[in-house]
Amino acid sequence: MAQTKSESFILPALPYKEDALEPVISAKTLSFHYGKHHQAYVNKLNELVSGTEFASMKLEDVIVKTAGQTDKAGIFNNAAQVWNHTFYWNSLSPKGGGRPTGGIGEKIAADFGSYENFAKQFAEAGAAQFGSGWVWLVEDGGVLKIVKTPNAENPISQKKGKALLVIDVWEHGYYLDYQNRRGDYLKMVIDKLLNWDFAAKNLG
Ligand code: MN
Repeated sequence: MAQTKSESFILPALPYKEDALEPVISAKTLSFHYGKHHQAYVNKLNELVSGTEFASMKLEDVIVKTAGQTDKAGIFNNAAQVWNHTFYWNSLSPKGGGRPTGGIGEKIAADFGSYENFAKQFAEAGAAQFGSGWVWLVEDGGVLKIVKTPNAENPISQKKGKALLVIDVWEHGYYLDYQNRRGDYLKMVIDKLLNWDFAAKNLG
């Protein structure tokens, strides 16, 4: 039987229109970030896993099996970036932001003292990540924590708990809208876009 060339991994649909996050994140930024950057990670990953054991694996398994292995860095970086960006799109919502309610709201208040403390610490951690990376809200051992990771690293690869929310702090995520003002981007995303329903679902 002739082998058909099929893509192992696909770019998931954006959960909203490209202009849905304006004015916090412009349609132009989303068009490049999703349509070019995220798509490029998917394309490169498919190219790298073609004909390997990784081609038929779940994305999460590819991340776990290639994390920390120098000779698999290309596959790891692209697999993790595909996963991280899909998680990021879902961490944002046109109706997001503000103080979370319900169980997740109580947990934020309990583990950070208040929502305001959480918002301040989340923005500070994102601003403090030197160079490219991500800032995550995770649940680790029953406690909510803020974790920052460099480049393509994530809580799966670094075994730092279960991801609940993430903000991309790579320059390509904010430069068109905010130039060098990463702190302003973080504050706006936290205030206006964080998808607490997604965080609550991930908390379980
Ligand atoms: Mn990005």
